[in-house]
Amino acid sequence: MARRIYRGPLKAILLDWAGTTMDYGCYAPAVVFVEVFKRQGVPITMDEARGPMGAHKRVHIAAIAKTPSVAARWRAARGRDCSEADIDVMFADFVPLQLACLADYADLIPGCLEAVAAFRARGLKIGSTTGYTISMMEILQREAKRRGYEPDATVCAEEVPFGRPEPWMCLENAKRLRVFPMEAIVKIGDTLPDILEGLDAGMWTVGLAKTGNEMGLNASEIARLPPSDLQRRLERAYARLYDTGAHYVVDSIADVPPLLDVIEARLASGDRP
Ligand SMILES: [Mg+2]
Repeated sequence: MARRIYRGPLKAILLDWAGTTMDYGCYAPAVVFVEVFKRQGVPITMDEARGPMGAHKRVHIAAIAKTPSVAARWRAARGRDCSEADIDVMFADFVPLQLACLADYADLIPGCLEAVAAFRARGLKIGSTTGYTISMMEILQREAKRRGYEPDATVCAEEVPFGRPEPWMCLENAKRLRVFPMEAIVKIGDTLPDILEGLDAGMWTVGLAKTGNEMGLNASEIARLPPSDLQRRLERAYARLYDTGAHYVVDSIADVPPLLDVIEARLASGDRP
């Protein structure tokens, strides 16, 4: 039986939002997760808040509550386990708090506009996926557009059967952009669920180690880090993204354009993700 092999060019890029194109260090969701747990009398650390990053925000809250250290603190503070009703209360708190501060974290990551221009110059369509809800994305899309970034498609978890790590947001982007096959698309993101959604959608995946949740620091914090700390944290971020299955890991979106030639050469030789 003849096997079809796609050897053509790349056709589209799917970009994550926070930590990938904007919000260096992926701070906006992390600070709000900390606040909603604090309101329940169960303080959490920034690391605990960041653990499940990339998931839909209600799924993320439930995952934080299941983290063993947080679950133990919840029982100690409240005398019982965190329930689905508690998750509902925290998500209800989360939404307005997140909406209120999103615009404060909407600056584009350095090199984003230049990278997107390079993608467009190669004829690529630009799609996007996110753990934010539709109402949150309305704010971020407006803020991004004011700063010169406007993808061709944006898909949120509520628009598909389930968000990350399942692949549906990626597949929905492909449909809206009318791009196929999936091996002609590259998924870029800063979290482990970003990589998983891309892999399960049959796409090439590129992890961003420095500007997102894995480092969890903004540009000025990174600039103040002692070089040995920076090196250690970066190595850990690279390792975690590669261990999750990323085809490539680079520091930031600015490093992605040259990689596309490498991926196209692999496609031309009959390789696939
Ligand atoms: Mg992100």
